[in-house]
Amino acid sequence: MRIDVVSIFPSFFDVLEVSLLGRARGRGLLDVRVHDLREWTYDRHRTVDDTPYGGGAGMVMKPEPWGEALDAITADAAPLPVIIFPSPAGEVFTQATARELAQREHLVFGCGRYEGIDERVFTHAAQLGEVRLISLGDYVLNGGEVAAMAMIEAVGRLIPGVVGNPESLVEESHEEGLLEYPSYTKPAAWRGLEVPPVLLSGNHGAIASWRLEQQLERTRARRPDLLGSDHDGAS
Ligand code: SAM
Repeated sequence: MRIDVVSIFPSFFDVLEVSLLGRARGRGLLDVRVHDLREWTYDRHRTVDDTPYGGGAGMVMKPEPWGEALDAITADAAPLPVIIFPSPAGEVFTQATARELAQREHLVFGCGRYEGIDERVFTHAAQLGEVRLISLGDYVLNGGEVAAMAMIEAVGRLIPGVVGNPESLVEESHEEGLLEYPSYTKPAAWRGLEVPPVLLSGNHGAIASWRLEQQLERTRARRPDLLGSDHDGAS
Protein backbone atom coordinates (compact mmCIF):
# COMPACT_ATOMS: atom_id res chain seq x y z
CA MET A 1 0.00 0.00 0.00
CA ARG A 2 1.15 3.51 -0.78
CA ILE A 3 0.39 6.26 1.74
CA ASP A 4 1.11 9.94 1.07
CA VAL A 5 0.80 12.43 3.91
CA VAL A 6 0.73 16.20 3.51
CA SER A 7 1.36 18.31 6.61
CA ILE A 8 3.09 21.49 7.73
CA PHE A 9 4.71 19.36 10.46
CA PRO A 10 6.19 16.39 8.58
CA SER A 11 8.39 15.42 11.54
CA PHE A 12 5.23 14.28 13.37
CA PHE A 13 5.44 11.20 11.17
CA ASP A 14 9.02 10.24 12.13
CA VAL A 15 7.40 7.77 14.50
CA LEU A 16 6.40 5.70 11.46
CA GLU A 17 10.03 4.58 11.32
CA VAL A 18 9.72 2.50 14.49
CA SER A 19 7.92 -0.64 15.58
CA LEU A 20 5.70 -2.79 13.33
CA LEU A 21 4.99 -0.09 10.76
CA GLY A 22 8.67 0.80 10.53
CA ARG A 23 9.45 -2.84 9.85
CA ALA A 24 6.62 -3.05 7.31
CA ARG A 25 8.13 -0.08 5.50
CA GLY A 26 11.54 -1.74 5.54
CA ARG A 27 10.02 -4.88 4.05
CA GLY A 28 8.26 -2.94 1.27
CA LEU A 29 4.72 -3.69 2.56
CA LEU A 30 4.07 0.00 3.18
CA ASP A 31 5.37 2.82 1.01
CA VAL A 32 4.88 5.96 3.14
CA ARG A 33 5.80 9.34 1.66
CA VAL A 34 5.55 12.40 3.90
CA HIS A 35 5.37 15.83 2.24
CA ASP A 36 5.77 19.31 3.67
CA LEU A 37 2.88 21.46 2.41
CA ARG A 38 5.24 24.44 2.37
CA GLU A 39 7.07 22.85 -0.59
CA TRP A 40 4.19 24.25 -2.62
CA THR A 41 4.47 27.86 -1.41
CA TYR A 42 6.44 30.52 -3.24
CA ASP A 43 6.62 33.55 -0.96
CA ARG A 44 9.45 34.37 1.40
CA HIS A 45 7.46 33.34 4.47
CA ARG A 46 6.17 30.11 2.88
CA THR A 47 2.64 31.14 3.81
CA VAL A 48 -0.05 28.46 4.04
CA ASP A 49 -2.84 30.38 5.82
CA ASP A 50 -4.85 33.57 5.57
CA THR A 51 -7.76 35.31 7.31
CA PRO A 52 -11.26 33.92 6.82
CA TYR A 53 -13.69 35.55 4.40
CA GLY A 54 -16.71 36.75 6.37
CA GLY A 55 -14.60 37.40 9.46
CA GLY A 56 -14.21 35.32 12.59
CA ALA A 57 -11.41 34.01 14.74
CA GLY A 58 -8.41 32.09 13.49
CA MET A 59 -6.83 31.48 10.12
CA VAL A 60 -7.79 29.24 7.22
CA MET A 61 -5.40 27.15 5.12
CA LYS A 62 -5.04 28.62 1.64
CA PRO A 63 -6.25 26.59 -1.33
CA GLU A 64 -3.27 27.15 -3.67
CA PRO A 65 -0.61 25.07 -1.85
CA TRP A 66 -3.14 22.31 -1.18
CA GLY A 67 -4.24 22.23 -4.82
CA GLU A 68 -0.68 21.98 -6.07
CA ALA A 69 0.30 19.39 -3.46
CA LEU A 70 -2.63 17.13 -4.30
CA ASP A 71 -2.10 17.54 -8.05
CA ALA A 72 1.57 16.57 -7.71
CA ILE A 73 0.96 13.62 -5.40
CA THR A 74 -1.85 12.12 -7.42
CA ALA A 75 -0.29 12.79 -10.84
CA ASP A 76 1.15 9.27 -11.08
CA ALA A 77 -1.61 7.66 -9.02
CA ALA A 78 -3.22 4.54 -10.37
CA PRO A 79 -5.67 3.27 -9.29
CA LEU A 80 -7.82 6.08 -7.85
CA PRO A 81 -6.51 7.11 -4.40
CA VAL A 82 -8.66 7.71 -1.34
CA ILE A 83 -7.95 11.28 -0.23
CA ILE A 84 -8.61 11.54 3.50
CA PHE A 85 -8.91 14.83 5.30
CA PRO A 86 -8.96 14.29 9.08
CA SER A 87 -11.74 16.52 10.39
CA PRO A 88 -13.83 16.75 13.55
CA ALA A 89 -16.74 17.40 11.17
CA GLY A 90 -16.26 14.09 9.32
CA GLU A 91 -17.63 10.55 9.64
CA VAL A 92 -16.27 8.82 12.76
CA PHE A 93 -13.35 6.44 12.19
CA THR A 94 -14.05 2.86 13.29
CA GLN A 95 -12.50 -0.57 12.83
CA ALA A 96 -14.89 -1.04 9.88
CA THR A 97 -13.41 2.10 8.26
CA ALA A 98 -9.92 0.73 8.88
CA ARG A 99 -10.86 -2.60 7.25
CA GLU A 100 -12.35 -0.80 4.27
CA LEU A 101 -9.31 1.45 3.78
CA ALA A 102 -6.92 -1.50 4.16
CA GLN A 103 -8.37 -2.88 0.90
CA ARG A 104 -7.24 0.18 -1.05
CA GLU A 105 -3.87 0.57 -2.75
CA HIS A 106 -3.27 4.28 -2.26
CA LEU A 107 -4.29 6.59 0.60
CA VAL A 108 -3.51 10.31 0.77
CA PHE A 109 -3.87 12.14 4.10
CA GLY A 110 -4.25 15.93 4.07
CA CYS A 111 -3.62 17.24 7.58
CA GLY A 112 -5.37 20.50 8.36
CA ARG A 113 -4.24 23.08 10.94
CA TYR A 114 -5.63 26.40 12.21
CA GLU A 115 -9.41 26.61 11.57
CA GLY A 116 -9.10 24.07 8.77
CA ILE A 117 -8.68 24.05 5.00
CA ASP A 118 -10.45 26.28 2.44
CA GLU A 119 -13.60 24.32 1.50
CA ARG A 120 -12.85 24.50 -2.25
CA VAL A 121 -9.89 22.16 -1.76
CA PHE A 122 -12.31 19.29 -1.02
CA THR A 123 -14.20 19.99 -4.26
CA HIS A 124 -10.96 20.02 -6.23
CA ALA A 125 -9.70 16.85 -4.51
CA ALA A 126 -12.87 15.03 -5.60
CA GLN A 127 -11.56 15.26 -9.19
CA LEU A 128 -8.35 13.49 -8.15
CA GLY A 129 -9.66 10.68 -5.96
CA GLU A 130 -12.35 9.54 -3.57
CA VAL A 131 -12.58 12.17 -0.85
CA ARG A 132 -13.36 11.21 2.76
CA LEU A 133 -13.54 13.57 5.73
CA ILE A 134 -12.89 11.40 8.76
CA SER A 135 -13.03 12.25 12.45
CA LEU A 136 -11.11 10.49 15.16
CA GLY A 137 -13.91 11.24 17.63
CA ASP A 138 -16.09 13.97 19.05
CA TYR A 139 -13.37 16.30 20.26
CA VAL A 140 -11.12 18.88 18.62
CA LEU A 141 -7.38 18.40 18.08
CA ASN A 142 -4.95 21.13 17.03
CA GLY A 143 -4.23 19.47 13.70
CA GLY A 144 -4.86 16.44 11.55
CA GLU A 145 -1.47 14.82 12.20
CA VAL A 146 -2.38 12.79 15.30
CA ALA A 147 -5.62 11.69 13.64
CA ALA A 148 -3.78 10.67 10.45
CA MET A 149 -1.20 8.77 12.51
CA ALA A 150 -3.94 6.86 14.34
CA MET A 151 -5.63 5.96 11.08
CA ILE A 152 -2.37 4.93 9.41
CA GLU A 153 -1.56 2.64 12.32
CA ALA A 154 -5.05 1.09 12.44
CA VAL A 155 -5.10 0.54 8.66
CA GLY A 156 -1.42 -0.44 8.34
CA ARG A 157 -1.64 -3.31 10.83
CA LEU A 158 -4.44 -4.88 8.77
CA ILE A 159 -2.24 -5.19 5.70
CA PRO A 160 -1.28 -8.86 5.30
CA GLY A 161 2.21 -9.51 6.66
CA VAL A 162 2.45 -6.41 8.87
CA VAL A 163 1.37 -8.15 12.09
CA GLY A 164 3.30 -11.41 12.54
CA ASN A 165 0.39 -13.62 13.64
CA PRO A 166 -2.79 -12.80 11.66
CA GLU A 167 -4.86 -14.72 14.29
CA SER A 168 -4.20 -11.93 16.76
CA LEU A 169 -6.11 -9.52 14.51
CA VAL A 170 -9.23 -11.68 14.46
CA GLU A 171 -9.74 -11.83 18.22
CA GLU A 172 -9.29 -8.15 18.94
CA SER A 173 -11.73 -5.60 20.30
CA HIS A 174 -14.15 -4.36 17.65
CA GLU A 175 -13.41 -7.13 15.16
CA GLU A 176 -16.50 -9.10 16.23
CA GLY A 177 -18.45 -6.10 17.50
CA LEU A 178 -17.36 -6.88 21.07
CA LEU A 179 -14.51 -5.73 23.30
CA GLU A 180 -11.68 -8.20 23.79
CA TYR A 181 -11.62 -10.59 26.77
CA PRO A 182 -9.04 -9.97 29.56
CA SER A 183 -5.53 -11.33 29.00
CA TYR A 184 -3.06 -12.76 31.52
CA THR A 185 0.50 -14.11 31.38
CA LYS A 186 2.90 -15.72 33.84
CA PRO A 187 3.19 -15.85 36.82
CA ALA A 188 -0.16 -17.48 37.75
CA ALA A 189 -0.18 -15.57 41.06
CA TRP A 190 1.14 -12.02 41.38
CA ARG A 191 0.84 -9.77 44.45
CA GLY A 192 -1.97 -11.95 45.73
CA LEU A 193 -3.90 -11.74 42.44
CA GLU A 194 -4.67 -15.06 40.74
CA VAL A 195 -5.17 -15.82 37.06
CA PRO A 196 -8.75 -17.14 36.58
CA PRO A 197 -8.46 -20.95 37.10
CA VAL A 198 -10.28 -21.79 33.84
CA LEU A 199 -7.31 -20.40 31.87
CA LEU A 200 -5.02 -22.93 33.57
CA SER A 201 -7.43 -25.86 33.00
CA GLY A 202 -6.30 -26.79 29.49
CA ASN A 203 -9.99 -27.19 28.59
CA HIS A 204 -10.23 -25.27 25.32
CA GLY A 205 -14.04 -25.37 25.16
CA ALA A 206 -14.36 -23.99 28.68
CA ILE A 207 -11.77 -21.31 27.94
CA ALA A 208 -13.60 -20.22 24.79
CA SER A 209 -16.93 -20.00 26.67
CA TRP A 210 -15.35 -18.06 29.53
CA ARG A 211 -13.75 -15.63 27.10
CA LEU A 212 -17.02 -15.01 25.26
CA GLU A 213 -18.82 -14.42 28.57
CA GLN A 214 -16.11 -11.93 29.54
CA GLN A 215 -16.41 -10.17 26.21
CA LEU A 216 -20.17 -9.80 26.60
CA GLU A 217 -19.90 -8.67 30.23
CA ARG A 218 -17.23 -6.08 29.42
CA THR A 219 -19.03 -4.77 26.41
CA ARG A 220 -22.31 -4.51 28.33
CA ALA A 221 -20.56 -2.62 31.15
CA ARG A 222 -18.26 -0.35 29.14
CA ARG A 223 -19.79 -0.03 25.67
CA PRO A 224 -23.45 -1.05 25.68
CA ASP A 225 -23.84 0.91 22.42
CA LEU A 226 -21.88 -1.84 20.63
CA LEU A 227 -24.31 -4.60 21.59
CA GLY A 228 -26.75 -5.22 18.76
CA SER A 229 -29.66 -7.64 18.89
CA ASP A 230 -27.40 -10.59 17.82
CA HIS A 231 -25.39 -10.39 21.01
CA ASP A 232 -28.40 -9.65 23.23
CA GLY A 233 -29.69 -13.09 22.32
CA ALA A 234 -26.45 -14.70 23.46
CA SER A 235 -26.44 -12.95 26.83
N1 SAM B 1 -12.51 24.72 13.06
C1 SAM B 1 -12.56 23.31 12.88
C2 SAM B 1 -13.94 22.78 13.28
O1 SAM B 1 -14.52 23.33 14.21
O2 SAM B 1 -14.39 21.79 12.68
C3 SAM B 1 -11.50 22.63 13.75
C4 SAM B 1 -10.12 22.87 13.25
S1 SAM B 1 -8.92 22.00 14.17
C5 SAM B 1 -8.38 23.17 15.33
C6 SAM B 1 -7.57 21.91 13.04
C7 SAM B 1 -7.45 20.61 12.32
O3 SAM B 1 -7.31 19.55 13.25
C8 SAM B 1 -8.62 20.18 11.46
O4 SAM B 1 -8.58 20.79 10.19
C9 SAM B 1 -8.41 18.68 11.35
O5 SAM B 1 -7.47 18.37 10.36
C10 SAM B 1 -7.80 18.34 12.70
N2 SAM B 1 -8.73 17.77 13.67
C11 SAM B 1 -9.19 18.35 14.80
N3 SAM B 1 -9.99 17.54 15.47
C12 SAM B 1 -10.05 16.39 14.79
C13 SAM B 1 -10.74 15.16 14.99
N4 SAM B 1 -11.54 14.96 16.02
N5 SAM B 1 -10.57 14.20 14.08
C14 SAM B 1 -9.79 14.38 13.01
N6 SAM B 1 -9.10 15.53 12.76
C15 SAM B 1 -9.24 16.52 13.64
